[in-house]
Amino acid sequence: MENLIKDIDIIGNQAVETCDYKTTAEENTGKAKKLYIESYGCQMNFSDSEIVASIMKDNGFDTTSEYEQADVIFLNTCSIREKAELTVRNRLAQFNTLKREKPDVTIGVLGCMAERIKDQLLEEEKLVDVVVGPDAYRDLPKLVAGAEEGQKGVNTFLSREETYADISPVRLNSNGVTAMISIMRGCDNMCSFCVVPFTRGRERSRDPHSIVKEVTELYQRGYKEVTLLGQNVDSYKWSPEENNKARLNKKNDVSEVVNSAHLLERVALIAPDLRVRFSTSHPKDITDDVLYTMKKYENICKYIHLPVQSGNSRILELMNRTYDREWYLERVAKIREILGEACGISSDMIAGFCTETEEEHKDTLSLMDIVQYDFSYMFYYSERPGTLAAKKFADDIPLDTKKRRLQEIIEKQNTLSLKRNQMDVGKIHKVLIEGTSKRSAEQLKGRNSANKMVVFPKGNHQIGEYVDVLVTDCTAATLFGDVVG
Ligand code: SAM
Ligand code: SF4
Repeated sequence: MENLIKDIDIIGNQAVETCDYKTTAEENTGKAKKLYIESYGCQMNFSDSEIVASIMKDNGFDTTSEYEQADVIFLNTCSIREKAELTVRNRLAQFNTLKREKPDVTIGVLGCMAERIKDQLLEEEKLVDVVVGPDAYRDLPKLVAGAEEGQKGVNTFLSREETYADISPVRLNSNGVTAMISIMRGCDNMCSFCVVPFTRGRERSRDPHSIVKEVTELYQRGYKEVTLLGQNVDSYKWSPEENNKARLNKKNDVSEVVNSAHLLERVALIAPDLRVRFSTSHPKDITDDVLYTMKKYENICKYIHLPVQSGNSRILELMNRTYDREWYLERVAKIREILGEACGISSDMIAGFCTETEEEHKDTLSLMDIVQYDFSYMFYYSERPGTLAAKKFADDIPLDTKKRRLQEIIEKQNTLSLKRNQMDVGKIHKVLIEGTSKRSAEQLKGRNSANKMVVFPKGNHQIGEYVDVLVTDCTAATLFGDVVG
């Protein structure tokens, strides 16, 4: 069983691997230069790359999907686990060859690794010309111009206010139907295992008017679904006077406060046939107000990504998650009470956190049985330098044990996913068509409200259309059926 997991350190039961990357698609609007971006890690990073492409477009760059054709190559990086950083460093070594043949090409490292190991990148990986952290993307054109003149460009300043609210992202690799919208940046939570607060800075919420404007424009261009993105979307809190969460919490004299339930409502009201999703929800922040707002609007999808990380209260305390097993299970009970059994719930899990005993690991498995997750992203613990856990606790669970526990979690999740999907068989699901199925050009694919992928025969249907699909079969990952009505 242990052999099943080798160097893959994240496995979702949707087969997502951490070190997959997305590249820019070709966009030719007649600009003089070409930009190629590889984006690693979370959805926030993919969304950031769209902001970067927009900033560079205004400064004379079209995007390309072929790095050999690029004048500028950016790697938008992730530091969440060691494996993610190693992948990027190997990739940089590959670009070394290219740089030798084409010394004029500018190579930049953006995002979390830029923030965490900027000196190493500039000194060891000599080919890196530009190192820019997540809050300094407005500076990229200037730094790239400097690099073209032979100067190394660095800006890893973390801002307390930056949200890029005024920048209209270039939609990279878009299917023209679904889009991600960043609604906040940074994180104030300080979970002990996590590097994000150090690499992405303090929590800030984006002006809701700019969010509504961006979503309205997408809808007018034919988009049918938006996902509001942030590390803790339910912690969203904005006022005209202050967008920094910590400062706003200390202020009494603001004219208006917009929270996550208000924002969801404003976005849902843009159009009844525009679906709204959001991710990620932190268990301490998801309020009954949010759940009632989800219930009130049919177009807010009935799906919540609610990472638990561990099912054991002692481990949750060491992780500094600020809730315990009982709190989490109460939130799940509330979701079921308000939104019913059909609401999709997914999670992130970490196996083998510092000092975790066999019994405590079993608490994670038993919690999974109680919640009946639809799917999960599952990892084994990877110590990150500088985090609270790295400073305070020994990373004392042997790698083999971490991998074995992770495998048990994966097997549990696969059983639960199949069971949850079987409950959907025989029912009609409203599906938004997103594209052609990977397996056959004669099949289309789309998601139901609970975020499950549904595959069905093409008929005369088009991408971007809503269809009712009677589900007749399933695997743990996919529902299969036929359009009805
Ligand atoms: N903000 C989200 C939350 O709190 O639920 C999570 C964001 S983080 C980018 C995504 C996931 O990576 C986490 O939920 C956690 O499961 C995992 N993760 C973070 N740090 C990790 C570490 N040091 N080792 C293993 N997994 C980690
Ligand atoms: Fe990391 Fe915790 Fe913030 Fe999520 S909530 S980004 S896990 S510190």
